[in-house]
Amino acid sequence: MLARFKRILKEEKITSREFAKLLGVTYPSFRSMTKKSSVVIPKWVTAFVIAYHLGKGIDDDGICTFCEEKENGFGEDGLFCKECHKMLNG
Ligand SMILES: [Zn+2]
Repeated sequence: MLARFKRILKEEKITSREFAKLLGVTYPSFRSMTKKSSVVIPKWVTAFVIAYHLGKGIDDDGICTFCEEKENGFGEDGLFCKECHKMLNG
């Protein structure tokens, strides 16, 4: 989840410092919350990743932006692949 979070920031060209500022926390605090060795992943990281993918869904190439699989086929809502649709909808 953390790796995915960091990849999104990179893709969107948002630096850690900028994100910390957007979040309203100090940079050192941001760094400690998102360090690789973190055992507990902050819920806002998970929320951010989910919301990001909700906004993106399946991209133009038919690749699910959540799991990045192409083979699973579209879910009923056309947002994610069948597997992710199942996972997100329980
Ligand atoms: Zn998927």
